[in-house]
Amino acid sequence: DDRISRISSSIRVIPDFPKPGIMFQDITTLLLDPMAFKDTIDLFVERYKDKNINVVAGIEARGFIFGPPIALAIGAKFVPMRKPKKLPGEVISEEYSLEYGTDTMEMHVGAVQAGERALVVDDLIATGGTLSAAIRLLGRVGVDVVECACVIELPELKGRSRLGDKPLFVLVS
Ligand code: IMP
Repeated sequence: DDRISRISSSIRVIPDFPKPGIMFQDITTLLLDPMAFKDTIDLFVERYKDKNINVVAGIEARGFIFGPPIALAIGAKFVPMRKPKKLPGEVISEEYSLEYGTDTMEMHVGAVQAGERALVVDDLIATGGTLSAAIRLLGRVGVDVVECACVIELPELKGRSRLGDKPLFVLVS
């Protein structure tokens, strides 16, 4: 697919960021290419437009870049899943493990209702810890996570296996 190759070649890899040994997948160069950015959004919209999804949950920070244009195009609301102490209203939180230590994800109480159908969006899945926390958080309030969508998957980290029965759709592996 021409669109996938354009997207793939627009992503820059920066070695040793943010730490030695990490090959950072940088999507900011994808955003600089309007055709690659549009193709990215179009591919997600084509997949999700007729799936009765009414919530797009975007994970801070790069899920806030890809999530909103998808939400607008499929007629869903956008819900930010944020780092701790960023959301001003009452929140529910979910802890998840990192390589060293833990982190927390927060969502506003009342942003979603039990029985709603959600798509979870982020730029990249590595170990799957972040997406699995989002799935748990939405599950706790009775939301049905239909699928997770990322631009990039690092398959050698087997993050997909941490998502339980939730499907994962990616553009570039
Ligand atoms: P995971 O929880 O190990 O799957 O890591 C995924 C999270 O870390 C996502 O929110 C990504 O934005 C971020 N992340 C990890 N590695 C990269 C990378 O190489 N490029 C961009 N984001 C990354």
